[in-house]
Amino acid sequence: MSKNVIITGSTSGIGLGVAEAFAKNRDNVIFNGLEPNGAEIAANYAEKYSIKTGFIHSNLMTPEGVQELINYSYETLGSIDVLVNNAGIQHVSPVEDFPIEKYHQIIALNMNAAFYASKAVFAKMKAQGFGRIINISSVHGIRASEYKSAYVMAKHGVIGLTKVLALEGALHNVTSNAICPGYVKTPLVEGQIADQAKAHHMSENEVIEKIMLKKQAVKSFIPVEKIAEMALFLAAENATSISGAHFVLDGGWSAQ
Ligand code: NAD
Repeated sequence: MSKNVIITGSTSGIGLGVAEAFAKNRDNVIFNGLEPNGAEIAANYAEKYSIKTGFIHSNLMTPEGVQELINYSYETLGSIDVLVNNAGIQHVSPVEDFPIEKYHQIIALNMNAAFYASKAVFAKMKAQGFGRIINISSVHGIRASEYKSAYVMAKHGVIGLTKVLALEGALHNVTSNAICPGYVKTPLVEGQIADQAKAHHMSENEVIEKIMLKKQAVKSFIPVEKIAEMALFLAAENATSISGAHFVLDGGWSAQ
C-alpha cells in the first residue's frame, strides 16, 4: 500500500534522492525546501510516477514554519505515514570565532525542527497504528570533527531524539531511526570543498583527497541512492522491529 511521506529539505541533495526513492515506490511525497524550483520538482514527480505530491516553501527554522509544513501536508494528503527529518545546514569555524547567529540557525534547523515536526505528527501516527520517523543525522552524530561545534551538537541531539521517540512509539507501531552518512557530494558539501580549497590554497581534488575523505576508509563519497534505499527500508511495514537505532553509511569512518 502506498504511503504518505513528508521529507524536509527535499528540493536538493540527499532529501531529493530520498524523495525519488519513495516516489519510485509509488508513495505520495510532500516536498519542502528553499530552492526556487520546488513546485516544479513536485509537479514533475507527480507526473513521472503517477503519485500525489505537494510542495511548500516553509522556513523550518521556527516552530511556526514547521507547523505550516505539517498543516499543509495533512491538508494535501489527509494522513502522514512517514516523516523524514532531513533539512540541514552547515557552518565551519573555530569555536571562539563561531558566529552566534549561525550557531542558533544550525541548532534551530538541524535539531529543533526535527523535534517540532515529530511532535506535530506523533499523536496521529500513534492513533493510526503506523508511523515511521527517519532522521538524517550524520557520522557527526556519533563522532566529532574540529570547527563543527554547532553541527556536531545538533546531530548528536537528533540521535537522542530518535531514541526517545522509539520508546514513546513502541506500543503503537511508530518507529524512529537515524541514518548517519559520511560525506555525500551534495550542494552542502560542494560549498565546503570550495571554501576549504580557498582557505588551504589547494585544488578542489586535493581538498577531497587530503581533507574531506581522510577519515573515511572507503575513499569515495557516499552515493545519495544508498541513503535513499536505507530510508525506504526503514519505512517499510516489515521494519517494525527496528527502532531507536542509528545506521552509519560512512565508508568505515566510525569503525576506526
Ligand atoms: P543540501 O544543501 O543539498 O540540501 C539541504 C536542503 O535543506 C535544501 O533543500 C535546502 O533548501 C533545505 N533547507 C535549508 N535551509 C532550510 C530552511 N531554513 N527551511 C527549510 N529547508 C531548508 O544538503 P544535503 O547535503 O543534502 O543535506 C541534507 C541533510 O543531510 C542535512 O541534514 C545534512 O546535515 C545531512 N548530511 C549531509 C552530509 C553530506 O555529506 N552532504 C553528510 C551527513 C549528513
